[in-house]
Amino acid sequence: MTDSDSDFGSDARRDELTAHLDLVRRRIAAACAEAGRDAGEVQLVVVTKYFPASDVRLLAGLGVTDVGENRHQEAEAKAAECADLGLRWHFIGGLQSNKAGAVASYADVVESVDRAKLVGPLSRGAHGRGHEVDVLLQVSLDPPGADHRSGVDSAGLAELAAKVEEAGMLRLRGLMAVAPLGEQPEAAFDRLAGIRSSFVSDHPGATVLSAGMSGDLEAAITRGATHVRVGSAVLGPRPAVQ
Ligand SMILES: *Cc1c(COP(=O)(O)O)cnc(C)c1O
Repeated sequence: MTDSDSDFGSDARRDELTAHLDLVRRRIAAACAEAGRDAGEVQLVVVTKYFPASDVRLLAGLGVTDVGENRHQEAEAKAAECADLGLRWHFIGGLQSNKAGAVASYADVVESVDRAKLVGPLSRGAHGRGHEVDVLLQVSLDPPGADHRSGVDSAGLAELAAKVEEAGMLRLRGLMAVAPLGEQPEAAFDRLAGIRSSFVSDHPGATVLSAGMSGDLEAAITRGATHVRVGSAVLGPRPAVQ
C-alpha cells in the first residue's frame, strides 16, 4: 500500500464513522425527545471491541469521549496506544478476579462488577494507579434458572453495593444491564427500571444506568438509561473472532 492509498482508506473510514455516528446521535436525540428527556442526559459509549486503535483515534476526532471494551488484553493494549486522546475507558465484559486489578489500572469505569470477589482486586488496582475507579454493578435480567447468566440477581445487589462502598478506592456510580436474548427488550428494561428505582433510593449517588445497545437503545432511553453502549451501529459488523 502506498501512502496515498492508506490516506484514502482512512478518509473513507472517517466518512463512514461520521455518517454512522450522526445516525446514532439522531436516534438518541429522537428517543430523548420522545421520552421528554434532555439529549444531554444520555452519554454515548462507543463499543470498539474487535476494532483497531486507528478507529478509536478517528472516533476521538469526531467528538467521541467514552469507549467500551470487553476483553482485558485487547482493552489494555488499545488504552495504552490511545493514551494521548484523553478518552474515558469503560470495561463492559466478563471479568476474572485475577485480571480485575489490571483492568482497574486503565479502565475509568468498570461496568461489569457482578460479584464480591472482584471488589478487593479492583480496589487494589485503583490504589496502585493512585485514583478512584467508577464502578457499575451488572444486574441480571435473565429469568431465574436461565443458562449463561451474567450479572448479579437483584436480590444480591444490596450486599454487593455495600462491599463496593466499603472498598476504599471504588466509587459506586450505578447499574448496568444487558437485555436477555429471546425477550422483548421493553419488558426487560421495564424490570430494570423498577430495580433501579429502589436501588437509587438506597444509594442516592448511584444514578448511572447503562443500558441499551445498537438494537435496543430507544427502549432503554425511554426507561431511564443514562448511558448507551453502542458498537455495531457505529463501527459496522464486528469481524469474526480474532
Ligand atoms: C458488544 C457489547 C455492546 C455493543 O453491542 P452492539 O449490539 O454492537 O451495539 C454493548 N454492551 C455489551 C456488554 C457488549 O458486550
